[in-house]
Amino acid sequence: MKFINDSPLKYLAFILPALGAFIMLVLIPGLQWAMDYKVIPVEYHAYITGTVMVILSWIGKKIYQPALHTSPLGFVTVTAGHSNKDPGAVRGKDKEADFVVKVRNAVELYLLRAGLTVKTDGKGSINLPLTNAIQIIRGSSTAIEFHLNASVNPQANGVETISLPKDKALAQKISKAIAGVTGSRLRGNNGWIDQSQSARGKLGFVSNGGLVVELGFISNDSEFAILQAKYWLVAKAIADVIIEHEKGLKS
Ligand SMILES: [Zn+2]
Repeated sequence: MKFINDSPLKYLAFILPALGAFIMLVLIPGLQWAMDYKVIPVEYHAYITGTVMVILSWIGKKIYQPALHTSPLGFVTVTAGHSNKDPGAVRGKDKEADFVVKVRNAVELYLLRAGLTVKTDGKGSINLPLTNAIQIIRGSSTAIEFHLNASVNPQANGVETISLPKDKALAQKISKAIAGVTGSRLRGNNGWIDQSQSARGKLGFVSNGGLVVELGFISNDSEFAILQAKYWLVAKAIADVIIEHEKGLKS
């Protein structure tokens, strides 16, 4: 058995039957007694009470309570690097843009399951360009974009997250979570790369407050093979860090 982390007291599905129980069990016998006239035979009270409870419970569950359906956590932007037109780094038939779409979709799923509101740069295999990705950052409490690194050196490896200095700790946690699954080493400062020290210079996504995650090297045989095999676990590890972070922002 698993308990939900929420109080039943605010749900009509609980409030109405509780109220009904009071009315049925106290008020009606009370009135009957006051009238000194047994309108409903006592042996039927349990049937009537039970039926009314079930109906009230059904009504309570059916009524939409908007205040209970707003996300308790903020909204998160999750995007895939490059686009359907720009494949990013390519290795044989594998394209960076296609792989990071799979990671984006998996991270989105885990965040939605945790009750977060998520915006993405496309659904399914859609991967909208960076300009769209930057536009949807606005208003989100965390924004994250996935990439794969590539190098002419086939040995180059490791995971890094590029961000503004204010998000250093979060960036390091994300890199560490990925490395915990893939066994990769952490690049930069414990997995964090300051935007100003990035080889790419200024990244639009980062300048707008987002984090750019380089999951590993597509050019490294073993690292990319592990990423492909374990991308669901990588996504789960990333989502867990974001969920924890979002909870921290709320408390
Ligand atoms: Zn890239």
